[in-house]
Amino acid sequence: MRILITGVAGFIGSNLAQSLLDAGNSVVGVDNLLTGSSINIEILKANNNFTYIQDDVVTMDMERITGTFDIIFHLASPASPVQYKKFPLETLMVNSIGTKHVLDFMKKSGSKIFVISSTSEVYGDPLEHPQTESYWGNVNPVGVRSCYDEGKRFAESLVMTYYRTHKLDVRIARIFNTYGPNMEQNDGRVVSNFIMQSLQGQPVTIYSNGKQTRSFCYVSDMVQGLTSLGVTPNIAGEIINIGNPNEMNMIDLANKIIALTGSSSKIVFNAIDGDDPQKRKPDISKAKKLLGWKPQVTLDDGLQKTITYFKERFL
Ligand code: NAD
Ligand code: UDP
Repeated sequence: MRILITGVAGFIGSNLAQSLLDAGNSVVGVDNLLTGSSINIEILKANNNFTYIQDDVVTMDMERITGTFDIIFHLASPASPVQYKKFPLETLMVNSIGTKHVLDFMKKSGSKIFVISSTSEVYGDPLEHPQTESYWGNVNPVGVRSCYDEGKRFAESLVMTYYRTHKLDVRIARIFNTYGPNMEQNDGRVVSNFIMQSLQGQPVTIYSNGKQTRSFCYVSDMVQGLTSLGVTPNIAGEIINIGNPNEMNMIDLANKIIALTGSSSKIVFNAIDGDDPQKRKPDISKAKKLLGWKPQVTLDDGLQKTITYFKERFL
């Protein structure tokens, strides 16, 4: 297959590209390196079936991308709360104008399938638990996270409008917290923070009281889920949660990472600004039914692999 990935230098995009290249596909990747890493691109460039275009999907001349694609994975967008709060306008623009550019490219090029990485953040601070795809969410439309939450909600609306109006084959992945190799050391997400702090003997920073929960998915499972979403026939217009339902609070996560790294770091409790969701856990019944997909990697195994990666790349 011939596949286009936007956001290819990022954490999930680079893992997805590597897996698709390893399976013998040809991949064209676009990224403006806003939050992605040139190291991830250098590793992908070792494969002759990889073509890299450094550009911004909001402003680029889409004629730079030639030919037609079997699947377009549109992943470009800051994803870490620290990054999207630092780049709120860029986040709004890539999810709105950027998504429109890529959808228009799909239509014009006659490409077959469009997959967008949406997020569990569309559920906001959820009042329904676990979250099913039919839940509409509890989102502050003007708060500090709204550039991302509402950006993604607009992107979903745009994608579904193209589906209804132009009959394009689109699929929406609502991704829940994902971790693993190719994360950036300083992008501020909880797993990368706790691992780097533990490995460097620094205080492990829990925000708020640490009782808030998340459900963590290892990146190889996420890549399999996204790939299944792209290749499964007859699921145009479907919106599917992809994540691991194994829920835990941040105190337990901190203690687990301190133990796995053999660290002597102490836990400290810091404040966080508004709207941090209190709980988050995907209902993945739909993914199991439509994609035949469920996560395989345990948290302990995934964290061990991630700790090894952080030691090798950053210490
Ligand atoms: P990331 O920040 O590592 O990667 C995003 C990539 O998009 C980066 O390489 C960045 O440079 C690129 N990018 C941003 N704006 C761009 C633009 N205008 N033009 C071209 N490239 C641009 O984030 P990630 O964790 O790999 O997330 C990938 C996607 O998955 C995002 O859409 C994110 O919203 C979604 N997602 C991720 C998670 C997670 O836990 N990692 C959870 C939910 C949703
Ligand atoms: N968090 C934390 N310490 C950190 C970074 C994050 O306690 O150093 C918490 C954060 O408040 C949130 C959870 O961990 O409740 C997950 O945060 P992350 O930024 O990884 O992703 P989110 O799910 O909020 O998008």
